[in-house]
Formats: sequence, C-alpha cells, structure tokens
Amino acid sequence: MNRQELADLIFPDAKEISYYEEKYPERDLPEGAVVTRFAPSPTGFVHIGALEQCIVETSLVKKSGGVLILRIEDTDQKRKIENGVQGIVDSMKDFDIVFDEGMVSETESVGAYGPYIQTQRKEIYEAYAKYLLVNDKAYPCFATEEELADLRKRQEEAKIDNIGYYGEWAMYRNLPIEEAAARIANGAPYVIRFKSMGKPDGRITHKDMVKGKVEMPQNMLDIVIIKGDGLPTYHFAHAVDDHLMHTTHVIRSSEWFPSVPLHLELFRALGFKAPKYCHYAPMLKSEAKVDENGSVITDENGEPVTFKRKISKRKDPEAAVSFYHKEGIPAESVKEYLMTVANSDFEMWRKNNETADLYEFPFALKKMSSTEGALFDMDKLIDVSKNVIATFSAKKVYEDVYAWAERYDEVLLGMLKDREYSLKVLGIERGAEIKKKRKDIGRWSDVRDYISYMYDDQFDGQYDYQLISDKETLKEIFTLYAEEYYNPADDSAQWFERMKDLAERIGYAREVKIWRKAKDEWPGHVGDVSTAIRVGVTGRRNTPDLWQIMQVMGPERVKARLALALEQLS
Ligand code: GLU
Repeated sequence: MNRQELADLIFPDAKEISYYEEKYPERDLPEGAVVTRFAPSPTGFVHIGALEQCIVETSLVKKSGGVLILRIEDTDQKRKIENGVQGIVDSMKDFDIVFDEGMVSETESVGAYGPYIQTQRKEIYEAYAKYLLVNDKAYPCFATEEELADLRKRQEEAKIDNIGYYGEWAMYRNLPIEEAAARIANGAPYVIRFKSMGKPDGRITHKDMVKGKVEMPQNMLDIVIIKGDGLPTYHFAHAVDDHLMHTTHVIRSSEWFPSVPLHLELFRALGFKAPKYCHYAPMLKSEAKVDENGSVITDENGEPVTFKRKISKRKDPEAAVSFYHKEGIPAESVKEYLMTVANSDFEMWRKNNETADLYEFPFALKKMSSTEGALFDMDKLIDVSKNVIATFSAKKVYEDVYAWAERYDEVLLGMLKDREYSLKVLGIERGAEIKKKRKDIGRWSDVRDYISYMYDDQFDGQYDYQLISDKETLKEIFTLYAEEYYNPADDSAQWFERMKDLAERIGYAREVKIWRKAKDEWPGHVGDVSTAIRVGVTGRRNTPDLWQIMQVMGPERVKARLALALEQLS
C-alpha cells in the first residue's frame, strides 16, 4: 500500500486540487489592489473591534480598487447560532460597511469565489488535505483523549520546554501506512494532522505590515487540520480559503499573531504564496482594580489603581456594535471615532478636511498600534459624535432621529410627528451658514431631553431661575417683556437691543461692560435679564440661542410660556 491508496481510502471522492486552482483563477484587478476579508464565526455578535477591522479594510480596499469579502467561519459548530449570519450582515449594514463579495444574508451570497461559508466548502478542504496526505505532509492520527492526556503528563514530568504533539512525541506520525489503513477500515476514529518540519530551536523572520520585521520561533507542532467531525480547523481553512479567494492582506487582531509561523508553514507545504499579514493590537479598556471585598484599590493620592484589559463581550455592553445602534450614536460617529483609534493622526487630518469622506483619509497599516492597543474611551466617542452631528443638516438629524425613535423611543416619536416644527427645532444653530454650530447632541438617546421644552405637552413647568430669582422682579420682567419689548419681527440684533432697553428700564446695566466697571452699583446686567427670560420661556438656563428658539416657537407659544411662568410666580 502507498500514500495515494491511503489518501484514497480516507477521501475517496475528493477532487484533484488542480480542479479548484482552475475554478478560482487570479483576480483581474489593478496593480496593488487589496483583497481582504472579514471572517467572523456566525455567532450573531459583532464586536466593536471587528467594526474597527472592517473600517480599516474598507479604507484599503476603496483606495486600491480591491475587494472586501465577508466569509463565515463556522467550522466550530458549537458556536453557531440560528440566524447568526444575518445578524452579522445586518450589523455591518447599520454601519454602511459594504462587502463586495461573500454572504449578503443568512443563505445568499454574491461573488465567484464561493461558497463563502466554510461548512459548505468541505469538499475543497478534503481535496487539499488529500494532497498533503499524498505528499507525506499530513497523516491520520488515532490518538485518543486519554493518550493525549498521558502524553501531556509525560512531557510535564520530563520538564521539557515544549508541550504538545510533535516530533518524537507524535506517536502516530510514523505509523506504517498499512496499519493506519487497517485501523481506518476497522472504523477507528481519527483526525488528520499536519506533518511539521519545524525544529524546537528553529527561528523564522517575517515582515508583518503593522509590526514590521519580526523574528519568531518556528512552528513544530503537528496540528490537526481535519477534525474528527470531518471539518477543517481554523488554521487549515484559513490557508485554503485565503489562497483560493486570492486574499492579499490578512488583517486581524494580534491575538492571532503567534499563529503566523504555523500559517506560513501551512502555506508553504500547500505550495501557496502567503498573504501579507497585518496584526494590530486590539482596543483596550481601563478598569479599576478591586480587592477581595470588591472595594476599589486606590494609590497614595486616593486615585483608583487601574489596569488595562481587552473589551469583553461578557462584561462590557459597549463590546457589541448593536449597543451603539441602540444608544443612537450615529454610524458616522462610531466610524469616525474608530478611525482615530486606528490611526491617531486622523484627528489632525479631519481638522483640515472637515467635510471629506472618512475613507479619503490616507490610512496606513504601519501607523496602527502594534503592541499596546489604544484605550477605548466612551467620553471621547461622544465628543467626536457631537462634532459629527454638528455637521449634519436639520433634515438629516430629523430623519436619523426619527428612524431611531421608531425603534427605541415612543415619546420622542410622538414629538417628531410634527415634522415641520421639529425640523425647525432641530435646525436651531445648525446648517452650513451657521458659524457657531450646535454641539450639544452626541447621541439620539439624548435628543428627547435636549428638545423636550420646545414641545408644550413635554414642557415640565420646572423653572431653573438663576441670579434673578426674586418673584417680584421676575414678574416685572416677564410682564414688561410680553407687553412692551417682545417683537417677533425683530432680527437678532434688534432683539438684543430691546433686551438692553428692558434691562435699563428695571435698573440693570444695559451692557456687561458697564456693570463690570462698578459692580456694586448695579443689581445686575442685561445678561441676567435675558437669562430670566430664557428660563421663563424654556424652563432652562442653558439652551441654544434664545432668539432662534423664540423664532421657532413663534409669538403665540412664547407669550403663552411667559403667561405660564407668571402664573407660577403668583
Ligand atoms: N474566524 C476568525 C475569528 O473570528 C478569523 C480570524 C482571521 O481573520 O483570520 O477570529
């Protein structure tokens, strides 16, 4: 019996690899085009780090005229959930990530290099595993769990450096072909292992696109390539798929970095050209250290002692991209923030290119952080988001908030039903012509609270009176203002002049400057008077531009508000 016969016994139906090599020819793309992929397991869950990866990939693909693929890695059947693929497709759509190829729904795909779900590629992996078997680069291994546990125990007792299945320890590596065939014929369970040529002290040098030149230990493990259930392991599927899909760049978080020597060896054994590897450090989160009682440990200055850890799917709601959607943080903001995480000079670029498309930024892999990931910072994200939302037109804000409210906030939805009025409300301090743009909204879940006072049925009748809180003065201000000074036809300058006139009328300084020169001589100044009116009309002391608010509210509502404030004071 020879290797070919053993391989035929194991994979009787597998095709020659030449069949697949021809079926998936080189891509016809411009020179330097980046072909890359997002390759999640179908757990339905999309991690914020995965979105960062997709933004990086989109950047490179768009600039080079390349291809972005969505490939589903479902060889670990335990992790699969129902509609998991759809969940991934939908989440990515929420962030306008466009895949040129791969899965577009739970069951459908586009592109000529499929199938794009690994379990549907079983026969392909078999062909390549068979090729390795025939070429003495793989072998069936019959080791039972007990045998593997025993091996580990013996290695530990022998205090050797490298624990694992390799070299002399690999008890089925040199099993005679006849014996292997006999065991298989008898129905013994087995896996297919790769026959590594690596040496315990061997080193490789390799150039990673993010980390630069690195030296690493060789792989020497005879890793499993086809599992007992007939499906490939991640490593083997990675080599076969990325070869046949003509992936030029494998972009992934650095947790995969230690596997590079193995992957390079697999590519070589299969006769494939390896892709460029790009391993970046995943984002981290800072957490306070606690003692055994759960109390925060502090340093000598009373500051909490913190440590950095990966963002965890289990512990951190912000790990899931769906979280941002629920919070109503616009996709544009999240992407903008993730770009600052990926390349820290993005912010500078944005300052000089305010309206440019995000993907026009000259993104570079080598500017990504390779060793320690950037800290994920929610406050920073909200700040970025405020700036992003400030660039939106009132119409866009209205439409986005409406879509969000439809799913998450019935009360807000009710408010927005008055489209014309709401467009004006959301248009305050917004628009291309406004210099000082409104920057108070960072997420749609804040909108209801920010604008509620503009809606009579939401106005809570609570008044946050400030410096002027004496009832008689307030009454005087509101009465005079409503009867003699308020003129809805005034432009913003005239409006403020009248505010000054009113201040003077009740004995307040008409200019802050005047008041500043002799503070003791005045009860206050025009700013205090206008603040009183602001609170009278809106209930709040901090609002966008009051003149604009009054314009949007219209004279009837403004007068009704002043009347209501007066009523409350009596
Ligand atoms: N399925 C792997 C994961 O979810 C993909 C890693 C890769 O991009 O190669 O981590």
